[in-house]
Amino acid sequence: MQLDGTLAYISLGSNLGDRAGNLLLAVRGLIEADLAVRRLSTIYETEPVGIDTDLKFLNMAAEVVVKDVKPSQMLARLLRIEYLLGRGDRPPGAKKPRTVDLDIIFFGSQVIDTEFLTVPHPRMHLRKFVLRPLAELIPNFVHPVLKTEVVELLAASEDRSAVHRWSPNAHTKGEAAA
Ligand code: AMP
Repeated sequence: MQLDGTLAYISLGSNLGDRAGNLLLAVRGLIEADLAVRRLSTIYETEPVGIDTDLKFLNMAAEVVVKDVKPSQMLARLLRIEYLLGRGDRPPGAKKPRTVDLDIIFFGSQVIDTEFLTVPHPRMHLRKFVLRPLAELIPNFVHPVLKTEVVELLAASEDRSAVHRWSPNAHTKGEAAA
């Protein structure tokens, strides 16, 4: 069956408060913003990378079908979800703990480079916390700039930070792990 729209991939992360609850609220936000969620990866617990905190993250990836939505509009919707879930209290890009962080990883095979948006996400290939969940959804998708499959990017990644499947029964809270 032909897909009516474009497949886009979003990386979701949270390391503050009820981390799993925040991810679920973000997923609900995507659906309410007309970004039709088609598949979700499992959730991973990950060590913070490139950010000034000891609090571990929960990360996952979402596959969404977007129709009649430009990448810039999608970014605006993600920023609104972040804001509503409590990121409004810090400037974008601040390397601080975050209630929820949403990044556009791929938007179909489009390559975008504007002042506000770079797609594919410029650091996705360096981060295991992005690649691991993404490889569950699209292992053989070819990065439109690097011309490399997601599984190959993961295998080649030099990121040595810990990335483990998370289970709700593990009862490890971000704050408690500090
Ligand atoms: P951060 O606070 O680190 O999540 O950065 C958010 C800012 O990065 C947003 O305000 C965007 O303008 C910018 N940005 C550039 N490329 C992307 C992308 N692919 N996905 C999400 N944000 C992006």
